[in-house]
Amino acid sequence: MNIDLVAYSQANPALNPSELQETSDLATIWNGASTFPENVIEYAGRVCYRSTQRMGTAPRFIINRVKEGHEDIIEHIVATVRVRNSEEPLRWRMLNRHCEVTEEPDGSWLVSANTRVWLSFFRDGIGLQALPHLQAIAPKVYAEFDDIGPTGNGPTPTAAPPPMPLPELDLPTLRPREEGPLRVTLLAFTQPALADAAAQEHHGSATFFFEGISRACTHQLVRHRLASFSQESQRYVELSKGGWNAVIPPAFEGNDAAQAKLSEAWDYLQAVYRELRQMGIRKEDARFLLPNATETRVVTSMNFAAWSHFLWLRAVDKAAQWEIRRLGQLVLEMLYSIAPAVFEEHWNVYREMRE
Ligand SMILES: Cc1cc2nc3c(=O)[nH]c(=O)nc-3n(C[C@H](O)[C@H](O)[C@H](O)COP(=O)(O)OP(=O)(O)OC[C@H]3O[C@@H](n4cnc5c(N)ncnc54)[C@H](O)[C@@H]3O)c2cc1C
Repeated sequence: MNIDLVAYSQANPALNPSELQETSDLATIWNGASTFPENVIEYAGRVCYRSTQRMGTAPRFIINRVKEGHEDIIEHIVATVRVRNSEEPLRWRMLNRHCEVTEEPDGSWLVSANTRVWLSFFRDGIGLQALPHLQAIAPKVYAEFDDIGPTGNGPTPTAAPPPMPLPELDLPTLRPREEGPLRVTLLAFTQPALADAAAQEHHGSATFFFEGISRACTHQLVRHRLASFSQESQRYVELSKGGWNAVIPPAFEGNDAAQAKLSEAWDYLQAVYRELRQMGIRKEDARFLLPNATETRVVTSMNFAAWSHFLWLRAVDKAAQWEIRRLGQLVLEMLYSIAPAVFEEHWNVYREMRE
C-alpha cells in the first residue's frame, strides 16, 4: 500500500491577524505554538473554556484534552490521502462512518478524515503509513505515537507539510461578516482539486466560527449530526465576570415595551446568577437559569456534503428560523465563493429569493 497526502485544512487566506486584533480574539490563533491546523484545534478548545488569551502557553493543552476525552476539538482539521495498490480503504469506511472514501478513475482511493478519525485508526493499527503526514499537520494530536521528549510535553512541531494549492479566490467575499451581534468567520477549509463535483462534496470541508448567536440558534445548529462543534461552555465559563449578552430578535425593534421587558428579565437573571454563585452554587448548576437568548460562540466544521444539506434546510428554506437562516446565508455566500460547482444550486435559489 502506498499513501500520499493530497490535501489538508488550510487557513482562510482572507484572514488578516493584525486586522482581526481590533475586533475579536481570533488573532490569537496565530499566537499558537504549532502549525496553523493545530492552532485551530487549540483555539477551538480554548473557545470552550474562554481562555484564548492563553494560546500557545501550555504545551500539553491538546494532549491533555485528548486524554480527558474532550475530543471534539480534534474534529476540525481534515486530511485527504490517496491510497494506491490496496482495497484497504473500503474496510476503513466500514470501521468508521466518519470518513469519506471514493474511488478515482485510475483505481486509487481518496480517503478524507478528520484528525480524530485518523487517531482512532492509528490506535487500531490501521493506515499507519499515513501517520507521518498527520504528525506533520498536528503533532500533539499524535503525541502518543512519538517520543514524548525530555519535557514530557510531546513532540516539538516541525514545519507543516507545504500549503496545498488553493483555487483562485475572491478574497473580499471570504472576510469575516458582521450583522448586529452575529459574526461569521470562515477559519479554514480543504478543497482537493477534483474534476468530479460529487467527489468534491465528500472531500471538501470547511470550518466556521460563529459568534454573537443565541443558544436558541446553536440548539438548532447542533442538531446537525454530520458535523463537529466546539462551543463555549456554560459549565466552565463564569457568567458573573461579565461579557455575556442577550441576543434580541429583530421583531423587538420598534417595540419599546417588549424590549424593556426583555432587558428587565435579562438584568434580573444576571443578578440572580451572581447571587447564586456567591451562595456557593457551582457554575454548572447556576447556568440552569440562563435563557435561550444567551449569546454564545461555536466553532463548526462539516464537509461540503453536510454543509449542502444544512444550507437546503437552514439558508434557503423560508421555514427556517431567522437567526440560523441569516447565519446559513452568510455561510452560503462564502462556500459558493470557494466551491461554486458544489453550491451553485443553493446559490441560484438564494439569489432568486433576494431579488
Ligand atoms: C423548519 C424546521 C423545523 C424543525 N422543527 C423541529 C422540532 O419541532 N423539533 C425537533 O426536535 N426538531 C426540529 N427540527 C430539526 C430537524 O428534525 C433535524 O433534527 C435537523 O434539522 C437536522 O437535520 P437532519 O437530521 O436532516 O440532518 P443531519 O443530522 O445533519 O444529518 C444529515 C443526514 O444524514 C442522515 N442521518 C443522520 N443521522 C441519521 C440517523 N440517525 N438515522 C437516519 N438518517 C440519518 C439523514 O439523511 C440526514 O438528512 C426542525 C428543523 C427544521 C429545518
